Amino acid sequence: FLDGKTAIVTGSNSGIGLGIAHRLARAGAEIVLNSITDRPEDHALAQNLAEEHGVNVRYVRADMSKASECRGLIEQVGRCDILVNNAGIQHVAPIPDFPSEKWDAIIAINLSSAFHTTAVALPMMRSAGWGRVVNIASAHGLTASAFKSAYVAAKHGIVGLTKVTALETAREHITCNAVCPGYVLTPLVEAQIPDTMKEYNMTRDEVIRNVMLERQPSKEFATVEQMGDTVVFLCSDAAAQITGTTISVDGGWTAL
Ligand code: NAD
Repeated sequence: FLDGKTAIVTGSNSGIGLGIAHRLARAGAEIVLNSITDRPEDHALAQNLAEEHGVNVRYVRADMSKASECRGLIEQVGRCDILVNNAGIQHVAPIPDFPSEKWDAIIAINLSSAFHTTAVALPMMRSAGWGRVVNIASAHGLTASAFKSAYVAAKHGIVGLTKVTALETAREHITCNAVCPGYVLTPLVEAQIPDTMKEYNMTRDEVIRNVMLERQPSKEFATVEQMGDTVVFLCSDAAAQITGTTISVDGGWTAL
């Protein structure tokens, strides 16, 4: 049902972004994949996605930590019906030890990039008379954990940006919502296991069981396919009046 729509998914050569791209492609959308690298395997991902779903897919390199490249990504594509702001990084450290460069990078990639892409995409959606902005926030957009100051601040920020975007577009058949995943076992989560092991002095299994899934009452990781299907739902007509809100896909984490 998304035939003829162009979807741009930031940070989509891995994890949740790639999962979302698959589901949007399956629903018929033309896809633009993005990340900071420009390797043959990035372009091969686009080719595979195109062949699997029979839609046009291209890969466009752009660094979501830079305002000009965020804006340039959308400008270069020239059309954006569905914008999924997904690129994100993580760093785990107590506040006094948190490197200020990491703070700046997390705020830039996880929060400011969505402002810049949205700023360029909205006029395109307005001229098309329809649009969907989906910001991938987190359970950490609604609640906090120790040692994740920049991430929690950025994710709370993106929930705020989601509400403002929704208000500014409310009468234009454009919606903006935030998806708030709990833990999904992607490379981003894999990468924080060693640091969390150190912070809490735990083994890998203890971190998964006692720190990560401890917060997730379902005791299961959410999946990238579930994130993709949630985004597809937000693009559907059933979701046309859903705007300015958050959808938690977190196994009950934020109900605690
Ligand atoms: P991931 O590391 O697999 O994917 C992150 C993506 O962002 C990758 O494609 C990476 O290349 C890209 N990226 C990183 N820096 C970039 C930059 N400067 N410019 C462009 N792209 C860049 O991680 P993921 O778990 O799939 O995370 C995707 C999003 O989901 C993030 O915003 C993350 O905060 C959010 N999230 C993840 C979880 C989880 O449990 N995995 C939970 C809640 C929210």
